[in-house]
Amino acid sequence: MPSFMVKSRWSDQTQQGGGGGSGEDRVRELVTTKAMVQGSIGEQSGLDPLGIDPATLGYYTEGTRLDGRATIDYSLYGNEKGVLGITHADGSVGINPEAFADDAVLRAVVAHEDVHVGQIMSGNFWYNGSAGRNAALAVNEVQGYRQSVASILQSYADRPELAGYLDGQLEGLANNLEKLQGTPYFRQVTTWPYNYNLASSDQCPPTACYAK
Ligand SMILES: [Zn+2]
Repeated sequence: MPSFMVKSRWSDQTQQGGGGGSGEDRVRELVTTKAMVQGSIGEQSGLDPLGIDPATLGYYTEGTRLDGRATIDYSLYGNEKGVLGITHADGSVGINPEAFADDAVLRAVVAHEDVHVGQIMSGNFWYNGSAGRNAALAVNEVQGYRQSVASILQSYADRPELAGYLDGQLEGLANNLEKLQGTPYFRQVTTWPYNYNLASSDQCPPTACYAK
């Protein structure tokens, strides 16, 4: 059975509220824990230093496109952007230990990265640039977050901080897309018949992006 030990970043931020002096302590705690975690890779037996049972990831990825390609990426722990999962061009996926905060968070992250692996498989993965400037990347991300929402829909009402995070991501992407209305990709995904296929010039070449 899965085990959950690491508190999610989202809860941390929510619980800290607007309070004053704890920021430094929080940074110190993160840095210390990160050093401890990274220094301990390779000597794990059973639970890892964060208390995560390595079997948990397999439990959640079984039957998904992440099966056999996802690993816990300890270098993501405490990253400033709050990235919880990352899909690489070669189809491998890294999951931040912080994504093991609880069932809903891990489910949402796996669902999101699963979409990206599917995008690589179908030649619709845009991996350059930023979602604020590129409609295809923004749509890639919208599809990922929509799947995250779908994966935890039953617990949405019980998880206001997680739901708020995902809604916020989608809202940000919608705002980005609004500014990209004039771009060809925006037009093709919003004009009937909707077409999500990237132009071949925008596709990640199979030599760089592959997920067999
Ligand atoms: Zn994504």
